[in-house]
Amino acid sequence: MPHDVTLIPGDGTGPEITRATQRVLGATGVQIRWDVRSVGQDAAEKCGDLLPKEAIHSIRQNGVALKGPVTTPRGGGFRSVNVALRKVLDLFACVRPTKSFPGALCRQEDIDIVVIRENHEDLYAGIEFVLGDPLINQISQIVEESGQGTIREDAGLSLKVISRRGSERIVRFAFDYARDNGRNQVTTVTKDNIMKHTDGLFSETARKVAQDYPKVRHEEMLVDALAMQLVRYPERFDVLVLPNLYGDIISDLCAGLIGGLGIAPGVNFGDNIAIFEAVHGSAPKYAGLNKANPMAMMLSGALMLHHLGEIEAAKRLKGSIATVIAEGKSLTRDMRANRQDQNSAGTSQVADAIVEKL
Ligand code: NAD
Repeated sequence: MPHDVTLIPGDGTGPEITRATQRVLGATGVQIRWDVRSVGQDAAEKCGDLLPKEAIHSIRQNGVALKGPVTTPRGGGFRSVNVALRKVLDLFACVRPTKSFPGALCRQEDIDIVVIRENHEDLYAGIEFVLGDPLINQISQIVEESGQGTIREDAGLSLKVISRRGSERIVRFAFDYARDNGRNQVTTVTKDNIMKHTDGLFSETARKVAQDYPKVRHEEMLVDALAMQLVRYPERFDVLVLPNLYGDIISDLCAGLIGGLGIAPGVNFGDNIAIFEAVHGSAPKYAGLNKANPMAMMLSGALMLHHLGEIEAAKRLKGSIATVIAEGKSLTRDMRANRQDQNSAGTSQVADAIVEKL
């Protein structure tokens, strides 16, 4: 029986890297029936809607989607198509496995970290007030009356929101993930020494949840200390679980540790939906030039195969990508020590090389 999967090609380099990914997925022999849907700029041009309801319906129905990166238009009312998609489908958990590949430009060859980021809350909740909004004055008055100082008149304002429910949901997800994937340690990451009522609530909730998982070691770390430790001793970390903003930043840091965004895959989970996508964006400057690295998208595809129960094919695809990286011949520019290297491969040549190894 073929698997039904929604495919969102995305914007910029999205269509070419998803095409390359469809090719390698097809070459594994796994049968996938793709339902291709537009989201983002592409959708806006076709039907005047950045997030068409047909695409949402297809993802809901199939429960699994492979998504190319989507450009967020600057300015205007729409904050981010990606943030909106995660909200509409309640994709509360972002999982980004970061594993070093021998031969890649990585800091160390023994990095194997899974970053789990809360997707809805924190400073990304979207509660913001522009400089000059009269509501800032009202909020300022409440702040003053509560004895917590003042908000300057020339300030913009973003609210940081962290709830007990949101924290419990993501931390439990992280511990379940650790338990189900043979992981030994979960590190909860906050700045709870400063933000006692938001990050503090996250930490307090995490301590309670951790008690239900006696076989998984729980440690806590401040995000600034973590950033330093990750650069010096990345091998000592296993699963990290973080509120939204720290998760966004730390997952890019982790991608840097293993050799860059070109090989950093990811997935967003809701209770019954999973959308697989690379960590990187639409890299518009490379659009249509056959230059973008498709490996992060392909590794996201391998995660998808695993999710679909196609474990052997997932391992084979990941193994082929690892072999191509180790051989060092068919690699895009971003994976070369010398970025001007004339021998760099294009997107489609990377796909050719991986198909050959499958
Ligand atoms: P980006 O990830 O597109 O690019 C950052 C840098 O990495 C650039 O130098 C780019 O050329 C390079 N890069 C990214 N992907 C690459 C690849 N596959 N191969 C080779 N090099 C690659 O981030 P940005 O420039 O901040 O964002 C561009 C657009 O993408 C924005 O509109 C942003 O909103 C969007 N975005 C989308 C997603 C998503 O859909 N999940 C994620 C992040 C950014």
